[in-house]
Amino acid sequence: MAKAGLTAKYRPQLFKDIVGQDFIKKILSRAAQQNKPANAYLFSGTRGVGKTTTARIMAKAINCLNGPDSEPCNDCTNCHQITKGIFSDVLEIDAASHTGVDNVRKLREDAVYFPMSGRYKVIIIDEAHMLSNAAFNALLKTLEEPPGHCVFIMATTAPEKFPPTVISRCQHYVFKMVHLDDLVTHLRFVLDAEKYEYDPEALILMAKRGAGSVRDSMSILGQVMALGGERVTPQGVREVLGLAGHDVYADFFEDILNKDLVNIHTRINSILGQGLDINFFLQEFASCWRNLFLLSQSGDKADKILSLPGNELEFWKDLSVRIPAPRIHAAWQMVIEEQKSILKSNEPALAMELLFFNLAYLPELLPIGQYTPSRQEMSNPAAAKPADPVEKKSPENIRESLGAREAYSDHKAEKEESCGDFSEKNWPGFVNYCRSKEGAGDSLARMLGSCESIIEQGSLKIVCNQEFIYDSLKRNGRERLISSLIEEFFGSEMTLYIINNAQKKDSSFREKALDHPVVKRLVDEFDSRIIEIKRL
Ligand SMILES: [Zn+2]
Repeated sequence: MAKAGLTAKYRPQLFKDIVGQDFIKKILSRAAQQNKPANAYLFSGTRGVGKTTTARIMAKAINCLNGPDSEPCNDCTNCHQITKGIFSDVLEIDAASHTGVDNVRKLREDAVYFPMSGRYKVIIIDEAHMLSNAAFNALLKTLEEPPGHCVFIMATTAPEKFPPTVISRCQHYVFKMVHLDDLVTHLRFVLDAEKYEYDPEALILMAKRGAGSVRDSMSILGQVMALGGERVTPQGVREVLGLAGHDVYADFFEDILNKDLVNIHTRINSILGQGLDINFFLQEFASCWRNLFLLSQSGDKADKILSLPGNELEFWKDLSVRIPAPRIHAAWQMVIEEQKSILKSNEPALAMELLFFNLAYLPELLPIGQYTPSRQEMSNPAAAKPADPVEKKSPENIRESLGAREAYSDHKAEKEESCGDFSEKNWPGFVNYCRSKEGAGDSLARMLGSCESIIEQGSLKIVCNQEFIYDSLKRNGRERLISSLIEEFFGSEMTLYIINNAQKKDSSFREKALDHPVVKRLVDEFDSRIIEIKRL
């Protein structure tokens, strides 16, 4: 069945069948029962939450031949005609295509006449915020002296565009986003009525994607049903919507814990290449961290609110024991905070990589400014403690992660506070200066912000501790761009050096491994040679 057909077929015809909006349904239903509708209503709220549907049910309820009652009968001539949109006393206009004052004047003229077949003349104005100022003024005159037999119902997604004088003459109801459980119940009702089999997780997924909108959820259901098949499955829904499956998230988590940056890079490119919806991907990714946090804090008690299939739940439970809670919390916060900037970024792939790499190295993250490598450390990076790839829930680890979270928060606060402040001619000032630049400035500042710097007479050394940052800074003419920004900012030409400190760390790691007595003995005794050295 076509999706429009599905939405129309299951459009509620009674107050009680409207999904969510309990408070509004109750008040309007009572007004209909008492035959005391207001002269003007304003229904505001996001799209697809039932504003127009409610307006039509109200029009029926106050004109039903078997009324006044709390619900329309949907059986009499008036109800039938209103449902079909052919009732002469109910006028519905779309302000988006009738913005002009002439249309409103005509409505005002119509409003003066008594209804022909019903008790009330009902004028429904959809997208009413699109009316011109002149049209609003014309409408205001009618609202100031409303004919008793006339009911105006205006629906809008943007009530802030209404003149206060108009709002003050309306009963204003704010339609809420529909709760996930209510959306799931509605989808289940439709699938049962259509005699479809379904997995409960598929319903939750569609409802989540519908983001509080009945219309969007129904539209998604229409697309999924159009795929054919006898059963609505999570896989089918993900396929139709271009969403990543559980396996994708599970793999990302393993890579993050193993600090496998190459795999992370490949996976990000793969999901971007498949054209998956990045916004929803990041939302679900944030949900994964939230689920982990709930499981780590509440254990089995969290099962009920997570609504996950058994095998997935087991996976997250196992993982929640492996990662210290403060790290989970910090990661969750990071994903939510970075989501918007990734979507706005000129280079979303790079911004996403940075987020994932930061998540992998979260325990080692230090606020910029607090960490300056000493010369000794620079020349002998082996002195730095190597990263421990295995997560243990030890008190040290928790403290370390807690430190990371605080560091991250400090870093964010520092970034937010100092954003735009580049009066001081130092490294943080320069990073902020880059951030203030249009175009790629923000992503460049992110990369530079993760580097250390040494400013000496006539030269600036940028020390990259991560290979991919080094590569990115060296590519696409960025080196030249940085040079010219340096000149602009510091007011004089400086020789720029971009130094790959990550490589140094790795080569010294190799030397250290080759120098290890056990390795030496193995090489000697078996007359062997080393092919590859890997951190475990
Ligand atoms: Zn009726």
